[in-house]
Amino acid sequence: MRVVVTGATGRMGRIVREVAGERGWEVLPVSRSEGTKYEPSSLASALAEERPDALVDFTVPAASVETVATCADAGIPAVVGTTGFDDEQLDALWEASQSTPVLHAPNFARGVAALIGLVREAVAALPGYDVELTETHHRGKRDAPSGTANRLLDAVDEARGASAERVHGRQGAHLRGDREVGVHVRRAGDVRGEHEVLLAGNDEVLTLTHRAESRRVFAAGALDAAAWLAGREAGWYDFSEVLNDDA
Ligand code: NAD
Repeated sequence: MRVVVTGATGRMGRIVREVAGERGWEVLPVSRSEGTKYEPSSLASALAEERPDALVDFTVPAASVETVATCADAGIPAVVGTTGFDDEQLDALWEASQSTPVLHAPNFARGVAALIGLVREAVAALPGYDVELTETHHRGKRDAPSGTANRLLDAVDEARGASAERVHGRQGAHLRGDREVGVHVRRAGDVRGEHEVLLAGNDEVLTLTHRAESRRVFAAGALDAAAWLAGREAGWYDFSEVLNDDA
């Protein structure tokens, strides 16, 4: 496999390069920092010259949208790990997927994919229980709540068949409403990523927790997705499809 890695000198980009190297893959790093062969402005020519099997992107939403549009023009499959897109940016990614395969996941950990299913199951099995979500990430994370937290909140809504009122932190005199889901965000140190969904009612508490112990778990999942995406038809793909094919 030959992969282009954008954001190659970022926290995730560095690990993606390392894990790809361990797999014996050829890595073409793209970064704004000096010391990499390609800069974001020369991405189109890099894709044309190198014809990689896939591109893996861990950057920021605006850069990611441009990168995926460039992939669409060149017909290169794009794996997007970046989070924090607004609706317009997500539409732009989807638009690109009409010309090239695109797989976007806010979390490439296999345990999180399992957690999403477990949350859906638990919420469906425990109607009327209060649900609260807490996530913790390193101090350098920009978007809040995390893309994974939003995905977990969607899973709660899917299980209930209704949109919860997402209440971000609480302050002052205020009673909890029945349809509220509290969302609590912590940013500290170098925490790789923790998500906890708590369900409480009927004199009991159930917590479902995932903790990433290293960024390698995200890199490995993104590279598995890249290998799976290479050679596919244009379209919008989900990480669960990669995992289902593995099972
Ligand atoms: P980081 O800040 O360490 O790295 C970001 C990289 O993007 C840097 O190399 C930076 O130079 C580059 N960049 C920033 N602006 C750019 C621009 N305008 N053009 C080109 N490059 C630009 O961040 P990180 O911790 O590596 O995280 C990157 C993204 O990946 C975040 O959105 C984060 O939430 C997400 N993430 C996703 C997963 C997942 O499993 N999907 C896991 C971890 C992090």
